[in-house]
Amino acid sequence: MDNKNILVTGGSGFIGLNLILELLKKTDYRIYNLDKISYSSNNESLSKLITNNGDKFSERYSFLNADLAKRAEVDDALRISNPDLIIHLAAESHVDKSINNPEIFIKSNIFGTFNLLEESLNHYKNLKRYRKDAFKFYHISTDEVFGSLNYNEKSFDETSKYNPRSPYSASKASSDHLVNSWYHTYDLPVIITNCSNNYGPGQHYEKLIPKIIINSILGFEIPIYGNGQNIRDWVFVEDHVDALITIMNNGIIGEKYCIGANNELSNKRITEIICSKLDKKVRKDEPYIKQVKFVEDRLGHDFRYALDTSKIKSNLGWQAKTSFNKGIEQTINWYLKNADYI
Ligand code: NAD
Repeated sequence: MDNKNILVTGGSGFIGLNLILELLKKTDYRIYNLDKISYSSNNESLSKLITNNGDKFSERYSFLNADLAKRAEVDDALRISNPDLIIHLAAESHVDKSINNPEIFIKSNIFGTFNLLEESLNHYKNLKRYRKDAFKFYHISTDEVFGSLNYNEKSFDETSKYNPRSPYSASKASSDHLVNSWYHTYDLPVIITNCSNNYGPGQHYEKLIPKIIINSILGFEIPIYGNGQNIRDWVFVEDHVDALITIMNNGIIGEKYCIGANNELSNKRITEIICSKLDKKVRKDEPYIKQVKFVEDRLGHDFRYALDTSKIKSNLGWQAKTSFNKGIEQTINWYLKNADYI
């Protein structure tokens, strides 16, 4: 699939940045990054990382400043990028923000996905046969669409019913349904993946792991919702990117895949792990764990997310490679070295 055009939406965000760098390293594809640039974007870091790799990266990379909620901008982006593959990551991504301001989630995640689907379908219909046969619309979603599990309940898998419970997860669930319906109704060749919580270097401060690390270092309170027992399955962002590339190359059209690391940890346990690592790396008089403050729980806080990843393992031979110990070491070290980010 050399010399093809890939349109990545949300490429300036946390996962998108990692994906674009890996695509530039591992393939000869021309990459177009459609992003509206918002508070969670890392566009400057991405541009620097691309420039630092010289012509071999910058000649194959283009940035398209566009908002998916604006149809004309999506139309332009499709025309300029003329993609063989679309990887759709752009979304408002923070649950708390969706509770305080749901409207932008509806605009970007639902209406934005609708605009992208409509323009992608127009584009797909006009492709020459040989390009049409290989075209894929790859939609990236979250495990949060399935709702919440108790301790003893079986993990979610590709057949689980949708039961989103926050404005964020409801907007992502809606976008999944739209993508699925464009496949069944209009024959747009799509793949959907649902991944569990990502962590790694460069994630925005609003998310749990960067917040624990940064507040610890700055001597601020470390806020933990409720009693800290809520459980998530944590995937290192490089593993997620590896799964995305595996699926991009070998995933079957019309299929869904769950991506996880079988690494379930409570928020309290994660905080303890990070604090004890920081105690060894940046000594101070009191252990960092003393900075923890249990705060009023998030509205409608889902208790547990967990994914059964048998399908991606057996069908595509993919599984997460990075242990939590290794991934969190790398993440903490990155935040310690990149104090300017803080
Ligand atoms: P992020 O918030 O770091 O980045 C999202 C990017 O999308 C930003 O650069 C933002 O400017 C862009 N964007 C948002 N709305 C847009 C619009 N209307 N038009 C153009 N660009 C827009 O998010 P992330 O953590 O990198 O997540 C990327 C995707 O992966 C999202 O779809 C998210 O739902 C999904 N996902 C994330 C996780 C996770 O733990 N981070 C887990 C599973 C799935």
